[in-house]
Amino acid sequence: MIYISSQQLQELHRHGEMAYPRECCGLLLGTCEGEQARVTEVWPAENAWDEESAVQFEDVEDSTTSERRYTIAPELMLAAQKTARDRRWQILGIYHSHPNHEAIPSECDRQWAWPEYYYLIMAVRDGQAGDSRCWRLDERRQFQEVLIDRSIDGSIDGSIARA
Ligand SMILES: [Zn+2]
Repeated sequence: MIYISSQQLQELHRHGEMAYPRECCGLLLGTCEGEQARVTEVWPAENAWDEESAVQFEDVEDSTTSERRYTIAPELMLAAQKTARDRRWQILGIYHSHPNHEAIPSECDRQWAWPEYYYLIMAVRDGQAGDSRCWRLDERRQFQEVLIDRSIDGSIDGSIARA
């Protein structure tokens, strides 16, 4: 289960809609106790995917997917790690959008996924954010869906930590 406030989800949706028809991506920061993750902040990232990365990953990627790729700049990861440490949070995972695709991980997503991360994917159809679904790898490196709970306002924790 992952708790994310509807306000944070709206932020993600806005990001996805602004980036459309490109993919957007960003980080989910928060706390985790056992199987209960709680998002305290979302960090929109510039999509750092460029021609150079495309060449670098050319051999290993599944080119049959029509999905575009995303990467997060290492500097942002470092900044997020530092912030997370300072606030006793952790980087819970990564969100990205699927323009005109379902909120289901692609083979490419699976290959590059880290086992401990949550992957929140939102479908953006014709510029309109729709379904958001969350996924996590199991021990066989297959994605299993994680329930999203938006009933608790996770932003409360975030505003206290920021103060
Ligand atoms: Zn994807």
